[in-house]
Amino acid sequence: MSWLLSRLLVGVAAMLAGGLLGYFVGSSLRAPVLGALLGAVVAVALLVVLDTIRGMRLIAWLRGTQEADAPRDAGFWGEIGYRVERSIRLRERLAGQEQARLSRFLDAMEASPNGVLMLDVNEQIDWCNSVAAAHFGLDPQRDRLQHITNLVRAPAFVAYLQTGVFKEPVQFPDPRGRGTLSVLVRDYGEGRKLVLSQDITERERADAMRRDFVANVSHEIRTPLTVLSGFIETMASLPLTEVERKRVLLLMSQQTQRMQSLVADLLTLAQLEGSPRPAADRWVAVDKLLRQVEVDARALSMGRHALTLNSDDAAQIAGAETELLSALTNLANNAVRYTSEGGRIDIAWRVLPNGSGEFTVKDTGPGIEREHIARLTERFYRVDGSRSRDTGGTGLGLSIVKHVVQRHGGELNVQSEPGKGSTFRLVFPAARLRYLEPAPDPRRQGEALTAVRGSTAETR
Ligand code: ADP
Repeated sequence: MSWLLSRLLVGVAAMLAGGLLGYFVGSSLRAPVLGALLGAVVAVALLVVLDTIRGMRLIAWLRGTQEADAPRDAGFWGEIGYRVERSIRLRERLAGQEQARLSRFLDAMEASPNGVLMLDVNEQIDWCNSVAAAHFGLDPQRDRLQHITNLVRAPAFVAYLQTGVFKEPVQFPDPRGRGTLSVLVRDYGEGRKLVLSQDITERERADAMRRDFVANVSHEIRTPLTVLSGFIETMASLPLTEVERKRVLLLMSQQTQRMQSLVADLLTLAQLEGSPRPAADRWVAVDKLLRQVEVDARALSMGRHALTLNSDDAAQIAGAETELLSALTNLANNAVRYTSEGGRIDIAWRVLPNGSGEFTVKDTGPGIEREHIARLTERFYRVDGSRSRDTGGTGLGLSIVKHVVQRHGGELNVQSEPGKGSTFRLVFPAARLRYLEPAPDPRRQGEALTAVRGSTAETR
């Protein structure tokens, strides 16, 4: 009530001041009472006009955007203006803080590796992050307030949404036809839904690969096992001559050998996949590697091939000796196994113009057709299955080679043409090489490199 009292006091003071002034003016005109009355009325009227002007100014400010300060009037209207402005500013600050919190929250949802999509009570799109937009092929702005099933029509998803039971995620083909999505819906708020999506294409592919791998391993092991059990039965049930018995035992030992090679290769692969990359500070002499590879290849060839070895410097390579030896031996042994008697096999090491080092195993064998080259490093992939098995192959050799070279930061290149032989190259980066003698002059080797470029196909 203090505001009323002060207003009354101001009114009374104005009336008194106006009346007093009117009284003195009226006295000079010999009508002091009338003068006093008029003076009081005029003073009150002036006060009302002033009040109205101040009130109108405040209303004009309130009708506007309130960005500028409220009118700084004295008294009643000034007080109202100040209080209203303070309350507006306080609300603006709170709204600003809420807005900042909301955008931080949306930024966090945007950073999610999974798709997040919010549906309102009518299952219309309220908001989605860019991952969800990419998964469902949506435009976050344009498709706002669109019914989700008008845009995502995958039957499995529509049926899932209709059931209203969202315990398990649903899986369906990505609407863009590029893979598989796994989608989980969660209820929130009052009848709203949160749609979480995940691209599981890679996971599915890995699962399929694992299933294929297990099936392949089982098949590879079952074949020699079947043969072995057949021989065991034969030996147990039939009276064999000494010659027959020796033959059966030889065949049995071949099958056992085959299983042993397979298990050894599988273990090598598992070890390569499960162990950290080889240290970059363990140095292996290229010369020593090559000599070991040559010894093994000659033993396997048993003089049936012309084998040459070429290394033009004393380089060392940073990595794991056993792995590098296994990769090179695999390449050299393949060359021996697939090249017919009288063929030629050249094993070489050289430094390329860009400083990287290259092992080459070149043969004059049957060669490989272009369409097979990209798949050679797949596990159990064989161009000629019976030839591979007959020569003791497991179908895992090039897979091991690829792993080894990649773990050493390098790459495997295959160049081959049917009837013209094959060249397998292992290229290691300059950073993994060092030289005990001054590095060889790469210009000397530039010409050779140009000659082998061309139809080189890099395996994946
Ligand atoms: P495998 O144990 O069957 O030799 P690899 O992974 O070492 O398995 O090789 C995959 C396939 O690539 C082989 O089955 C063979 O068909 C082909 N291959 C590998 N090296 C050569 C080569 N030097 N000449 C011709 N074909 C080859």
